[in-house]
This record gives sequence, structure tokens and C-alpha cells, in this order.
Amino acid sequence: MTMPETKECPFCAETIKYNAIICRYCQQKLPVANKEGTFPDQQPLEPNENKQPATKLDISLPSIQSTFQKFLQEEIRKDNHTLMKAGILLPV
Ligand SMILES: [Zn+2]
Repeated sequence: MTMPETKECPFCAETIKYNAIICRYCQQKLPVANKEGTFPDQQPLEPNENKQPATKLDISLPSIQSTFQKFLQEEIRKDNHTLMKAGILLPV
């Protein structure tokens, strides 16, 4: 099994070195072939937990935040001392 020595540049169609990462003719960055001879850029997207961890609980949602803040502000109005005891301090 031998590796091809040359390939065709996908941008300018000139024959360039197979392992070239930048075309010598048009200076375009070329997709780098891996050991299997396939181009990662051309592969269909596969689920990859390491690269993109799924966020199941997004507490930074504005609606949840405002609801929580409203709740806290009402609690503060009801009983300021309870929250102070719990250690919750909010700029009101
Ligand atoms: Zn080229």
C-alpha cells in the first residue's frame, strides 16, 4: 500500500504534493488528509461529547433568571431577615 505522491489542488487544480497543507500555487490552505486518506472537513458531523458537552440545564436563561429574581425580591419584601440569615444578599 503506497501513499500517492501528488494530488490536485481543489482551489486552482494544479498538481501539488500530497502532504502539502498550503498550495504552492494559490496559497490556499488545504484540508489535511488523515491516515485513512479521508478529509475530516468532508465527513458528516458525528456526536462528540468531548468537543461539545451537552448542556442539559441552562440556568442562564433570561426568563428563568427574571422569574428567580422576582421571587427573591418578593421574599426580601416579605422577610428580609430570613434571607439575610440564609446568606443571600442582593442589590435591591
Ligand atoms: Zn492551489
